[in-house]
Amino acid sequence: MKIGILGGGQLGRMLLQSAANYVVETWVLENDSECPSAHLCHHFIKGDITDFDTVYAFGKNLDAITIEIEAVNVDALEKLESEGVKVYPRPAAIRIIKNKITQKEFYKAHSIPSPDFVVTHKAAELMQHLAFLPAVHKIGQGGYDGKGVQVLNEKGDLGKAFDAPSVLEKKVNIRKEIAIIVAMNNEGEPVLFPPVEMVVDPVLNLLDHQVSPALLPETVLWKIEAIAIRLVKELKSPGLFAVELFVDKDDEVWVNETAPRVHNSGHHTIEANYSSQFDMLWRIMLGYPPGNPDPILPSAIVNLVGADGHSGPARYEGLEEVLKMDNVFVHLYGKKITKPGRKMGHVTILHKDYADLTYKAHRIRNLLRITAE
Ligand code: ADP
Repeated sequence: MKIGILGGGQLGRMLLQSAANYVVETWVLENDSECPSAHLCHHFIKGDITDFDTVYAFGKNLDAITIEIEAVNVDALEKLESEGVKVYPRPAAIRIIKNKITQKEFYKAHSIPSPDFVVTHKAAELMQHLAFLPAVHKIGQGGYDGKGVQVLNEKGDLGKAFDAPSVLEKKVNIRKEIAIIVAMNNEGEPVLFPPVEMVVDPVLNLLDHQVSPALLPETVLWKIEAIAIRLVKELKSPGLFAVELFVDKDDEVWVNETAPRVHNSGHHTIEANYSSQFDMLWRIMLGYPPGNPDPILPSAIVNLVGADGHSGPARYEGLEEVLKMDNVFVHLYGKKITKPGRKMGHVTILHKDYADLTYKAHRIRNLLRITAE
């Protein structure tokens, strides 16, 4: 089978690592020939994943195609699908998710609990929705890693609001941020990974570390699982989906957003679960039975991001110390250049004791610094 990946970042890289277990010819399309995936695939094609002709030419001789990012040319994927190329997830699902406005409308139309919202087209319109504050303002298209999201607590915050089509969403009183990965096979049968708790850095608005399986009351876990399965079934597409949710202070569960692809919140599954999210996606695309998503041990992930004030060729300070630790797995994405806040790798920690996971997560964050040479 010839299978292509649109995008050659770190997610593509981990997907390719897992492909080595199967007989599959891998193709990658990406603009940057020094990207993390370039040297791990069988065929690297340099090109723009948002351009119709480039994506169509890349896909037309493949058996199947998947994505590692939503910002792809969906029209080309639709044409490829109509000509018999299998696309994971289906282009219709990518189209819904790609824009936060259509994504939120989809939740509403299917009674998936998600914070109440209004759609705005320009910053000036926000003045009509003061009663909606405190709220979270999210740019419709193009935001990622918290960069298209701003908290608007009061009228005085409106001056800094994005001036673009957006959703203005009720601010949730968050107790926990959870992500759960659902694998959906070609027959529409879902397989659920255990949920993970994401601990967010309030300053960077970026994931600080995460723990899996999340510690949750059983009734909350059931709600999360039921909502995630229903949501993915409504998308009517095989593939792998990461559903991000909030558990509020009253233990109500709200969908934040969905990623229709392998996801950062599933990196730990490489070592911590019998079948990883990457293995699971290959099994789906190759038409094999699903793997076992159960955890082998509880785990934590620390994201490795470029240190403040450092831009240039990357240097990994403290790497030896971290590599000496038991049941700690370092993943470096091979990006040549570091920048403040740039995702450069992650570290997975396994331990039966959650206190040990948190202790090691903090220790690793203090030990390992990514600076410029
Ligand atoms: P991105 O797609 O850029 O990751 P998210 O929609 O996940 O953006 O939002 C980033 C963060 O902002 C979330 O992890 C959460 O901490 C906060 N956030 C988003 N929506 C809400 C909300 N409705 N209420 C409270 N906090 C929110």
